[in-house]
Amino acid sequence: MNKDEKILVSECLLGHACRYDGKSKPNQKIIELEGTGVLVPVCPEVLGGLPTPRDASEKLPDGRVINCKGIDNTEAFIKGARKAYEICRENGCSKAILKAKSPSCGKGLIHNGGFAGGLVAGNGVLAQMLVDAGIEVLTEEEI
Ligand code: SF4
Repeated sequence: MNKDEKILVSECLLGHACRYDGKSKPNQKIIELEGTGVLVPVCPEVLGGLPTPRDASEKLPDGRVINCKGIDNTEAFIKGARKAYEICRENGCSKAILKAKSPSCGKGLIHNGGFAGGLVAGNGVLAQMLVDAGIEVLTEEEI
């Protein structure tokens, strides 16, 4: 890995308890990179102003993000993704390693909006924003 390369990373993968359920998803490979100065951690949902813990949200096929109580959280998700994207740009990140299947961070496969564990092809709100900007996006399952 190039020591000058900056990598945007989902904060929950570093063991930070920012997930909807108040927990984290530590990934050993990513934790080992902490301290090298290459990682730029973000949690787009927290950046969007959502509390932790929070009700689980899923992205619908039409692009809206709703929570399990039917509340439309699309605005907060877009706001947080834009802030995370700005942080990505400011730090010159050329790559991102994001949490798989999340409505914000998932890439390639995300929960389908049915809140029953079903998956569908697609990207989370932040992942899509980064892909559109030409940033290489991987999930923790691909490293
Ligand atoms: Fe992790 Fe992304 Fe969810 Fe934040 S929004 S808890 S970084 S998967």
